[in-house]
Amino acid sequence: MTYNEWFENHSKKHAAIMKKLEGLDDYDVVQYFIFENMVEKEPDFCALYATNTKCHEMYELNCYMCGCPHFRFNKSPVMEDDLEFHSICSISSKHGKRSYRDKEVHQDCTKCTVPHGEDYILSHFDRDWLTMMAKVKN
Ligand code: SF4
Repeated sequence: MTYNEWFENHSKKHAAIMKKLEGLDDYDVVQYFIFENMVEKEPDFCALYATNTKCHEMYELNCYMCGCPHFRFNKSPVMEDDLEFHSICSISSKHGKRSYRDKEVHQDCTKCTVPHGEDYILSHFDRDWLTMMAKVKN
């Protein structure tokens, strides 16, 4: 699956859940997206839910802001010094890193929990996932 396919697909899944949660206030919406609740109530939201696997081992993993507003992907890779940049982190998080596959450069977020913490989510909250992710697709 390409970045763009994942992005478009995920935005639809997020919007469908938000439609169901229209009566809840912002705080309760974020609570609904706690990993354990999502595994039970929204099994199709993430492929990892089928095996009850967290993408990051952390206390109270919250899935509301998956992907991440700081992630940037290029529909057509940007060439630089003979390398193809497919994705980067716009804030150069010290917990993220670049991964290299031949000439391809991809952002590796496996050790970064920035978008999964409740405080972060509530301070960057929007009910529209595409608004939160407005700068991600390039
Ligand atoms: S490294 Fe962290 S902050 Fe950067 S894009 Fe990945 S998850 Fe977001």
